[in-house]
Amino acid sequence: MFIVMLGVPGAGKGTQAQRLEERLGLRQVSTGDIFRENLRNQTPLGQLAKSYMDKGELVPDDVTIQMVEERLSRPDCARGAILDGFPRTLAQAAALDQMLSGKGQKVALVPLISVTDDEVMARLTGRRVCRRCQSVFHLLFNRPPPDGECPQGDKSQCDIYQRGDDQPETVRNRLFVYYKQTSPLIGYYFAHGLLAEINGAQEIDRVTSDLWDVLSRIQA
Ligand code: AMP
Repeated sequence: MFIVMLGVPGAGKGTQAQRLEERLGLRQVSTGDIFRENLRNQTPLGQLAKSYMDKGELVPDDVTIQMVEERLSRPDCARGAILDGFPRTLAQAAALDQMLSGKGQKVALVPLISVTDDEVMARLTGRRVCRRCQSVFHLLFNRPPPDGECPQGDKSQCDIYQRGDDQPETVRNRLFVYYKQTSPLIGYYFAHGLLAEINGAQEIDRVTSDLWDVLSRIQA
């Protein structure tokens, strides 16, 4: 089962995708995380992505599509995946459909997590991420573990940081880019009967439970 998480940056796609990963036993594939990992390892892909990410712009489609195609071809995605941050353009959505149809599969559901722009600004400036396990926290709503223990349970300590692109100016540009390039996907997936809008301005657990309800309906 392939699930595409849709919503503005900071809507909570990553947090909810992590929860679905645990519950469904499907891999979360986050293009933003893959780019950041390449950046840390100073690969050519990371260096190319950095110039776009720093400005809040999208990495070019051809590079992103090739990267996702390679990722989805690995055995841990054979049963499906939870796509978080991909597709972000109509060209990427069409490429995803093509990739999956090549394997006799297709997108099963597109949850759209809705929150207002003001909410996103507040969330992203308080967002903190663990470099090690990629868990997402918030200084007010979902504080990093006080003892530093990593929620993945492998006894390591979290390494918390603030993403450079969570600075207010860059967040504003990321929102602009979302409305210009990614929001047309709402119409695309609606037309395919796959869209399920979820109120993302609720407690994290409520959002998860709404998501779970929608999933149970398609699994039934
Ligand atoms: P995210 O962590 O999903 O907010 O992504 C961080 C940044 O990575 C974005 O602002 C883009 O620069 C880049 N990125 C992530 N996913 C994509 C994508 N599907 N297409 C192009 N660029 C992407």
